[in-house]
Amino acid sequence: MPPIPGSGLAKGLAVTLRTMTRRSHTAQYPDAQPELPPRTRGVIGLFEENCTVCMLCARECPDWCIYIDSHKETVPAATPGGRERSRNVLDRFAIDFALCMYCGICIEVCPFDALFWSPEFEYAETDIHELTHERDKLREWMWTVPEPPALDPGAEEPKEVAAARKAADKLAAAEAAAAEAAAQEAAAAREATDAHGAAVEDAAPEAADAPRTERGEE
Ligand code: SF4
Ligand code: SF4
Repeated sequence: MPPIPGSGLAKGLAVTLRTMTRRSHTAQYPDAQPELPPRTRGVIGLFEENCTVCMLCARECPDWCIYIDSHKETVPAATPGGRERSRNVLDRFAIDFALCMYCGICIEVCPFDALFWSPEFEYAETDIHELTHERDKLREWMWTVPEPPALDPGAEEPKEVAAARKAADKLAAAEAAAAEAAAQEAAAAREATDAHGAAVEDAAPEAADAPRTERGEE
């Protein structure tokens, strides 16, 4: 059957109309910031207080773009007769984002939660060397890391939270016991003072009478 003249044009116009009524996905960046999902892999933040310089992230990075320098320090014994300990102190931690392929292995393998994804992505540079972010810059990214999602209501409490709560409860109980002991001590001291005051009052009239007796005034 031969095609109806003009049917192709009608089909094309129908497609055009359908597309015109659909919502556009174009974002007017940079005038409008894109709404990124919370787990977006933008840049890596370093929480250096958690880093023990174990070097796992640098060893596992497939691109070898994590640079870590450290030195050892001796920590004096905590108790008399105890043993001195040595610990690693971080001197340099840098990530070369010109090489990084955003695989996330370093974040996965870090046993101490020192590395986090941030959704920030606006760090393009005109000089490639500037893409090596040193420790201070990596720390700055930490402030842009979104909060972790809330736990499922039926989920088991994380062991870190349970341990922290137990420690806080223990501290609060110790403080309450100390306050109670102090209150009891203060009450006992007050009672002792009152008893002493009463004894002095009882003794006072006798002392006042004594000279009169001695003078033979009775
Ligand atoms: S995301 Fe992957 S490539 Fe980038 S620093 Fe981490 S391990 Fe290396
Ligand atoms: S794996 Fe974690 S703790 Fe170990 S060096 Fe890397 S960031 Fe630091």
